[in-house]
Amino acid sequence: MKKFSDRLNRMSFSQTFVMSNKVRQMKSEGIDVISLTLGEPDFDVPQNIKEAAFEAINNNFSHYSPVPGFLDLREAVCEKLKRDNNLEYSAAQICVSNGAKQAILNVLSSIINDGDEVILPAPYWVSYDEMVKMMGGKSVFVKTSIDTEFKITAEQLEQAITPKTKALLYSSPCNPSGSYYTYEELEGIANVIAKYPHITIISDEIYEFINYEGKHTSIAEFPQVYEQTAVINGMSKAFAMTGWRIGYSACPTWLAEACEKIQGQMTSGANSMAQKASITALRTDPGEYRFMIEEFKKRRDLVYSLIKNIPGFNVNYPKAAFYFFPDISYYIGKTLNGNFINDADDFAMFLLENAHVGTVGGVSFGNPKCIRFSYAASEKDLKEAMKRIHEFLENVALS
Ligand code: PMP
Ligand code: GLU
Repeated sequence: MKKFSDRLNRMSFSQTFVMSNKVRQMKSEGIDVISLTLGEPDFDVPQNIKEAAFEAINNNFSHYSPVPGFLDLREAVCEKLKRDNNLEYSAAQICVSNGAKQAILNVLSSIINDGDEVILPAPYWVSYDEMVKMMGGKSVFVKTSIDTEFKITAEQLEQAITPKTKALLYSSPCNPSGSYYTYEELEGIANVIAKYPHITIISDEIYEFINYEGKHTSIAEFPQVYEQTAVINGMSKAFAMTGWRIGYSACPTWLAEACEKIQGQMTSGANSMAQKASITALRTDPGEYRFMIEEFKKRRDLVYSLIKNIPGFNVNYPKAAFYFFPDISYYIGKTLNGNFINDADDFAMFLLENAHVGTVGGVSFGNPKCIRFSYAASEKDLKEAMKRIHEFLENVALS
């Protein structure tokens, strides 16, 4: 007899992994599928970071680390925050975790009580709403559309605030929209939140470096909300280290201590060798790794030139991260080759099964009209994927 907790029953599987698993299964059956599902850089980890990991193994960094991470790593994080974001943090304010995912969970578990509200500008990253549910909280969605580059305004934010609001959680640059908030836009948001000292901003900046047009701003740069902000970042995207599982939070001291308390009972300190290698990654001039961003930018332009001509797609020109999030409303409520399309998830599944291109439907990102393409894939695959979808939709029987 299955005896699941209410907590588990409230949650869904991560849709990014559902779709990538489905791709894997089709490939194992010999089907030639192109996967644009998971958002993960396809580059190898840079050599100097690998060398640092070998050195850590040879130097026997094989024991438990302090729960919030090695002191020298936390110091390197503080240097990075000063160098790139002009933010002052002490090592005591940093908690190193098993990926940014755990860093966000630590913060949410530290502040959310049953029934507390967390504001999520939609679209949002798939795990946010699920994490809020896991903690017994309630997400309050602030809707946006492609016409505003999927960004909320300060006025929309203020309207969503209630006495139960505990946090605002967003990513900038944003997964899935590929937009980022400018200095002025974040200043407006900061001015609103500063009026409500009971609200914590959880600012997920994991795509900080993958920004092709503007300068990244962290909302913690605004002094009026520094004490209310948890900055989240990590090694996965900037250094192609998704499997190494290192992320971190930078918080006011009370919240950093809470994260350490939670993490100490859940998972302990993060992987010791990966922590040591992360010091090298953070202390290297970011220019050394710029080639990955230049490559993503080329791919963004390539995909844009092709995706905008796909019949029925309404797409904007994303400025950051590595995703396209076209609006495919045109197909919703229609029948394609005999398949009724209820929402973007049906459409993504239909594309996978018929055009053999894996994407992720927008329902679990909080937008049932859009689908997400990750362009962290080779140019060859990207061209072929766009061609397959274009040709398929041009010839599909539509009613
Ligand atoms: N935040 C966002 C917006 C993401 O897209 C991801 C997934 N890559 C994460 C956090 C989690 O990253 P990780 O746990 O690999 O550091
Ligand atoms: N964050 C990546 C994505 O959005 C990896 C998968 C996940 O952690 O959900 O695809």
